[in-house]
Amino acid sequence: MLMTVLQVSTRRVLYHSCCKLTKKSKHLVQMVRPSSDMAAFRELFAKAKHIAILTGAGVSAESGVPTFRGAGGFWRKWQAQDLAAPEAFSRNPSRVWEFYHYRREVMLTKNPNPAHLAIAECEARLSKQGRTVVVITQNIDELHTRAGSKNVFEIHGSLFKTRCINCGNVKENYRSPICPALEGRGAPDPDAVDVQIPVEHLPRCEEKACNGLLRPNVVWFGETLDSDILSQVEKQLDVCDLCLVVGTSSIVYPAALFAPQAAARGVPVAEFNMGTTTATGSFKFHFQGPCGQTLPPALARHESEIIS
Ligand SMILES: [Zn+2]
Repeated sequence: MLMTVLQVSTRRVLYHSCCKLTKKSKHLVQMVRPSSDMAAFRELFAKAKHIAILTGAGVSAESGVPTFRGAGGFWRKWQAQDLAAPEAFSRNPSRVWEFYHYRREVMLTKNPNPAHLAIAECEARLSKQGRTVVVITQNIDELHTRAGSKNVFEIHGSLFKTRCINCGNVKENYRSPICPALEGRGAPDPDAVDVQIPVEHLPRCEEKACNGLLRPNVVWFGETLDSDILSQVEKQLDVCDLCLVVGTSSIVYPAALFAPQAAARGVPVAEFNMGTTTATGSFKFHFQGPCGQTLPPALARHESEIIS
């Protein structure tokens, strides 16, 4: 019954990018202690043909990527929810662009960590065996792609894509700085002041005769997910035979939406994160600790794998 509710909710594409499904998740909890038996996990891993890996902020955090959430997570005096919002952008596009410019520039100094690399290596290795690994991530930093992952669904978009608010054109953009007016801007210190860049000097659309204002192509608080990406993700969850939840708790979106969908079909779900939650008991495995430490041995070559 609850599974149906969750699945229908997913299909309606009405999700706020930080919604907690605590209430619903409570009903999912079965009083079964999840296993932390790595050898048992590895047996299932060795047989799996189609592995879906859901990743969240914890994976990025281990690369030192700031999230601007929680205690101490501030840019100037704001947190992500104050700036990653359509209202904030309409009110003060210059401030929001300073924030995103800073985040883009910070990424020049960050690198994929052992968890990203283990996932990418696993995908490459298993693809030679006719097996599939897909990453479904809420992270917008492209570290999975930089690590070498090919099948990546960025459900929250990317820091390195822009979208024109006039013509809707979406484009990759790795320029540093993204426009001359933002050069040297975006200082995160609490006493830094907004520079109030005129809107015509913020990033602009280069499509013929458009010149519309660009925004980061990321899903902001209160916005809906891209329905095309979501339907592709649902297809992946419908065919996977092993599901991993990495660096995010299973009561917090997106894992709260997606993992139960796989579990409802009897697919084993394995969590890799720093703590347990009320939902942990509804999954088969839980491996506690930094995923940069727990994931590489979990996804390493199994002795039964034949490498050509
Ligand atoms: Zn345009």
